[in-house]
Amino acid sequence: MYDLHTHTTFSDGDLIPAELIRRAAVCGYQILAICDHVDWTNIDIIIQSIPKMRSTAKEHGITLLAGVELTHTLPADIGNMAQYAKEQGADIVIVHGETTVEPVLPGTNAAACSCPYVDVLAHPGFITHFDAKSAMHHDIWLELTARGGHNRTNGHVARIAEDTGATLVVNSDSHAPHDLMDGKTRENVVFGSGISHSAAKEILNRDLSKFL
Ligand SMILES: [Zn+2]
Ligand SMILES: [Zn+2]
Repeated sequence: MYDLHTHTTFSDGDLIPAELIRRAAVCGYQILAICDHVDWTNIDIIIQSIPKMRSTAKEHGITLLAGVELTHTLPADIGNMAQYAKEQGADIVIVHGETTVEPVLPGTNAAACSCPYVDVLAHPGFITHFDAKSAMHHDIWLELTARGGHNRTNGHVARIAEDTGATLVVNSDSHAPHDLMDGKTRENVVFGSGISHSAAKEILNRDLSKFL
């Protein structure tokens, strides 16, 4: 199992990376991305710090991806910040998309979906066909999320992805211990989006080799 979207005390999560990694290992994860919220004030410290846990994670049987979540970034700034994150060594860049439960700036999805340095658009809300097509062209993956509130539009995201051919992933957006998903919960989130059985299997077992 993989989870490409989790938070620690480096932003607004409850757990230090060591405990998040340990708990993810107990849940059965093989690939875990820590993608704390960043803006220009903390992006350097996070990109420099999380990789220090790589060998510890390995001891727990987990491949750690040290990433960032660009959060409430000005749309015009998303390209620069995503490129900067990759140049500084981030393994994965996700963008905090236009969830319906936060005042994320309109244009965020569009900026993320056309940026070659972005890997995943998290909780994309009412993403448009146009933006999903753009994501598909740039191999930017759209998230089905387990997180309460953000998950209201999972059904919409699944339908738009099926219409456009965009790639879906399933993530927890964990902030606290109980947010990590077991296998059954991951299945419930994916199947609950209304996606077809074959697409669901593909999402649950997404090939992540491009990050490894
Ligand atoms: Zn958060
Ligand atoms: Zn987010």
